Amino acid sequence: MLKKQLGIIGSPIKHSLSPVLQSYLIEKLDLPFQYSAFEVAKNDLNAAIEGAKALGFRGLNVTLPHKQRIMPLLDEIDAFALETGAVNTVLFSNGVATGYNTDLFGFLDSLRLADVCMTDRDVVVLGAGGAACAIISAAKKESARSINICNRTREKAETLAKKSACRSIDIDDITHSFDNAIVINATSVGMFPDIDETPLPKAAFRKNFIYIDIVYNPQETLFLQHAKAAGAKTVRGLGMLIFQGIMGMEIWSGLKINRKQNWPPLQQLLIDKMNHH
Ligand code: NAP
Repeated sequence: MLKKQLGIIGSPIKHSLSPVLQSYLIEKLDLPFQYSAFEVAKNDLNAAIEGAKALGFRGLNVTLPHKQRIMPLLDEIDAFALETGAVNTVLFSNGVATGYNTDLFGFLDSLRLADVCMTDRDVVVLGAGGAACAIISAAKKESARSINICNRTREKAETLAKKSACRSIDIDDITHSFDNAIVINATSVGMFPDIDETPLPKAAFRKNFIYIDIVYNPQETLFLQHAKAAGAKTVRGLGMLIFQGIMGMEIWSGLKINRKQNWPPLQQLLIDKMNHH
């Protein structure tokens, strides 16, 4: 059977875990696809999309630096991707390219797995980049009580807060303004190789807060270690990565894929892959 092509585009793309993740699902579910990573520079994005269309690709994952820039190049955009302002998954169907954002659903699935719910909770998002936008959409979807953005560059937090009808707050407000907030690290602070960094100082952690890191390498960041030391509940970032990928494969294949069943082997596979680097 002729296999349809899938892939991820971005730059740099060498260390992406998506080929391992998606190839596992393709093999496990015996899907008529093959998945590859494509290094695509900023200025080549338009040509890459046209090329993928012309070559009969079924879909693409999209990563830095293209998640926002790809939007005007697509024919249709799903409502959640539009609200988030970023696309990480593209489906090509009957000559139409449609953009989706599976990051926000991947994030919500990872919370579900950990039995965490943002409904009626004060949510603090650390960071104001692309990932923070997906988390904000997720928090809105879950009807959080309040959504508060804290970012190194204050103006960016303020601009994003205005755009998304949230609040911009200072780092000191986090510990003093809430009784039991959910604090999410959506910055790249603490990511390998800078594993000794944390977006919040150790003294700022509270036992009755929940701390979530979307950084997944290392699996347990210093941010989460501090949270655990304070006795707080924590959620790691690998779930979001795995579940956003599973949802992408659902969009391309039209199948419903069991998350609970595929989570343990995928987690192990990706950890092995990261340890190998
Ligand atoms: P981005 O758009 O480049 O945004 C980076 C954010 O991190 C900005 O808010 C930036 O603040 C902040 N930041 C960077 N270095 C900092 C430092 N030294 N101190 C304080 N803040 C700092 O990146 P992104 O796409 O949002 O991704 C952010 C992280 O999320 C990455 O580590 C990425 O791997 C992770 N992520 C994980 C998943 C998953 O599936 N688990 C999905 C998407 C992203 P300024 O505005 O001040 O520069």
